[in-house]
Amino acid sequence: MNQENTRILVVEDEPKVASFVKRGLEENGFSCEIAFDGLMGKRMFDAADYDLLILDINLPYKNGIELCKEIRSCNQKIPVIMLTALGTTEDKLSGFDSGADDYLVKPFEFRELLARIRSLLKRILIAETGGNILKLLDLEVNLNTYEVTRGEKKIDLTQKEFALLVYLLQNKGRVLSRTDIAEKVWDINFDTGTNIIDVYVNFLRKKIDRDFSLKLIHTQTGIGYILKA
Ligand code: CA
Repeated sequence: MNQENTRILVVEDEPKVASFVKRGLEENGFSCEIAFDGLMGKRMFDAADYDLLILDINLPYKNGIELCKEIRSCNQKIPVIMLTALGTTEDKLSGFDSGADDYLVKPFEFRELLARIRSLLKRILIAETGGNILKLLDLEVNLNTYEVTRGEKKIDLTQKEFALLVYLLQNKGRVLSRTDIAEKVWDINFDTGTNIIDVYVNFLRKKIDRDFSLKLIHTQTGIGYILKA
């Protein structure tokens, strides 16, 4: 997941807590904006496209429960974490009733908030992609959208290059013979006269490895290829 593009809105009226959360999120690569009351929170939510909300409950003008209900009436998807000093079971239940996905009682440790944020974002990603993401380090292939990225870089592949990469990723860490690759990716029985596999592996190398110091595609002399870190 590309964290730099993950925008989090924090609605929190206590400046100390707000800046503590903002600093922590930014240190961890998220982008974060703060609203200091419920009305401002609603206005900012309506005006921009956020990926996750962190709402305090006791807020001026509009409390976190009301705000969450309003947001849920027009947006079912966005993950919401409630943050509050109130910690009884009743409070938690009304938080969940209003549509929050998770609940954190103050005072909390930042790393616990971070763990909950990551777990919610991961759940969303899995729900959106049906779990159809193949990954090795910073290389990611989305089988639903056909998007391929390495780190920040978007990579355009031809259909065959894409199929080859998917096969390598599905078998990462395993040496694949040219025969295996020819059968699975080209659906042909390998004819020793052709070097099509090597040609395509080189195309793929240029696109996913050439500009990166850490190479992922490795040649196993005399056997074939392996994708590994
Ligand atoms: Ca408060």
